[in-house]
Amino acid sequence: PGSPRVAIVTGSSSGIGEAVVKQFCQEGLQVLAVDANPQGENVADAAGAVFYHADLTTSAACRGAVEEAIKRFGHVDILINNAGIQHVAPLETFPEAKWRQIIDLMLTAPFLLTQAAWPYMRQSSWGRIVNVASIHASVASPGKAAYVSAKHGLIGLTKTAALEGGELGITANAICPAYVRTPLVESQIADQARLNGMPEQEVIDNVMLKNAAIKRLIEPSEVAALVSYLASDKASAVTGASWNMDLGWTAQ
Ligand code: NAD
Repeated sequence: PGSPRVAIVTGSSSGIGEAVVKQFCQEGLQVLAVDANPQGENVADAAGAVFYHADLTTSAACRGAVEEAIKRFGHVDILINNAGIQHVAPLETFPEAKWRQIIDLMLTAPFLLTQAAWPYMRQSSWGRIVNVASIHASVASPGKAAYVSAKHGLIGLTKTAALEGGELGITANAICPAYVRTPLVESQIADQARLNGMPEQEVIDNVMLKNAAIKRLIEPSEVAALVSYLASDKASAVTGASWNMDLGWTAQ
């Protein structure tokens, strides 16, 4: 009953974020789609969401996103922290600026967005925070120091928010996917193929799916379906959890 729930989705212009925006709009939610890529306007329009153009590596942009949701819709019920980037380099030469950008976007922005959305969720005694982490929140891969560190940190933020939100009707959970078929992964496949001089299918089979029991990439809509569940009333007993969607990667 009452007005539809309001969701903020970050990294909404492509991949998993785009799939989540579509899923939420289909469910009748009001969605603020946040992305640094202005192309996101078209994605948001097509799905029926409102677009907010922002580079979430700044605190002003994080606070601005929540203020925009309040201005447009009057409240914030659901926060999906999804925006992310990758940079691959050995520790020894990993650029400090890339480290800081990745930590700012993938750990500090989720913290600031959670902090800004929290009072509105507390007021209505209902809130859902879903952090799109990664299988790299529990295992590492060489060359991904910043990404792996940010994702491990995001699990800590998720658990802390779960404890503090427990009495307030606010749940916080993380989703940990293995490789999902998105532009982020497609560019990694192309890079690795060039780097190792192998066909792209070989990169997928021998590098990305080496540890997978199910030998295929995950589709963005499959991640969106789990986000949708965790953001729903049905998931009110689930909090502080890290949900693997990893094709069996970490079963061994
Ligand atoms: P993607 O590149 O398709 O989408 C990421 C979006 O984030 C893009 O639209 C991009 O413009 C946006 N973005 C980048 N920097 C930003 C900034 N500074 N401010 C605002 N927006 C910014 O990637 P994806 O694969 O859909 O990844 C989404 C999330 O899922 C990321 O957090 C990623 O780490 C995580 N993830 C992806 C995979 C995978 O295999 N694709 C696996 C596990 C986890």
